[in-house]
Amino acid sequence: MTSSSLGPLEPQRARRIYVLVSLLNACAPELGHFFDLLTADHWAVSSAYEHLRGSAQEASSVPTVEDALLKAQTEWVEELHSLAAKTTREPEVSRLLLAMSELAAQTRPTTFALDDLFDSLAEYAGDLYPHWPPQLAFAVRQYGGRGRRYGASAATMHNPDATVVLYVDPVSLGPATYLSIPHLLIHELICHVASRPCGICANASAWLEGFMDWAAECHGTRWLHRLGVIGPAASQHRGPLFEEIAAHDRDQAAPRSFGRRTAEMLVQRLRKHHGFEHEAARMTVANFAVRLNAEEAPLIAKDRFVNRVGFGSAGPLPDKLVAALRGVDDEGNTVAAGSVL
Ligand SMILES: [Zn+2]
Repeated sequence: MTSSSLGPLEPQRARRIYVLVSLLNACAPELGHFFDLLTADHWAVSSAYEHLRGSAQEASSVPTVEDALLKAQTEWVEELHSLAAKTTREPEVSRLLLAMSELAAQTRPTTFALDDLFDSLAEYAGDLYPHWPPQLAFAVRQYGGRGRRYGASAATMHNPDATVVLYVDPVSLGPATYLSIPHLLIHELICHVASRPCGICANASAWLEGFMDWAAECHGTRWLHRLGVIGPAASQHRGPLFEEIAAHDRDQAAPRSFGRRTAEMLVQRLRKHHGFEHEAARMTVANFAVRLNAEEAPLIAKDRFVNRVGFGSAGPLPDKLVAALRGVDDEGNTVAAGSVL
C-alpha cells in the first residue's frame, strides 16, 4: 500500500477513504460544479454521489487498495455514463457527468492524493518558518463527530516529533469534505506545527486560533493558487468550514473572531496612518504573525498582545510596533517580532 498516512486506520476503513479520495481527486477539475449541483439537490448528481459512496463501501472489503479502487472506479464510471445519457435534455448536467466519467476512468493507484497535498502544503509552510521540524509526519484517522456538513477536522501532536493528524469520516467524505481539507491542513501547518512554546494546544487562544488563523488564511489563499485544480474549487469552502467548527465549539468561537478582527484592525491602521497599500499591509501583518508565532515566548504574552491591540484605539500605531511589524526600524536595523510582548 503506497498510502502511508492511512497506516493507523483499520484496513477496511483505510481502503474506503483511499477509494473515495482517489476518485474525488481525479474529478477535481469538475468538483466545484459537481458540489454546486449536489447542494441544489439535482437528482442525477445526488444519485451519482450516492452511487460513489455505495461503491466505495462495497469495494472496501476487497483485500488490496489497488483492486478496491479498480472495482469502485469501474462501477462509478459506468454509473456516470448512464446518468449522462439520462440527462441529455440538460446539456450542462450531461456534460458534467460525462467529463467526470472520463476523469474517473483515468484514475490509477498511485501515491495517496492527500499525502501529495500535505507534502506540497508542508513545503510552502516550511519556507515561511526558519525552524521547521525535519521529521514532520502526516496521519489520517477516524473522525468521531457526526451530523456535520464537513466530516473532518485536524490537530497537531508533538510527541516529540510533530505529526499533523487529519480526522476524516469515510461515511460523509464527499466533495465538500474533500475541498475543505486544504484549509484544515493549512491551519495546522501555519498555526501549530512550528509555533513556540512547542506543543501547546489552546483552543481558546486568541493568538493561536484567531490572529494566526487569519495569517493562515492570508498565506493559504496564495498557496491555493499553486495547488492546481483543487485550489479554485476549495476556496469557497474556508468560510463555511470554520463557521461550522465555531458553531460546534463555542469556547473557541469568541477568541477566534477577536484574534482575527485584531489582525484585520492592524491592517486597517497600517493603511490609514502609515501609507501602506492594502495587500502590502496584509502581508506585513501575516509575515509578522509567523515570526512572532515562532518566537520562544509564553502563549499568554502573545494573547495579551492581541488583547492590547484589539482593545486599543483605531489611531496611528506606536513607532515601536510599526518597526516590529515590518521587522526593521527606520535605520535599517532588524527588529524582533517579540519586541511587542
Ligand atoms: Zn488550531
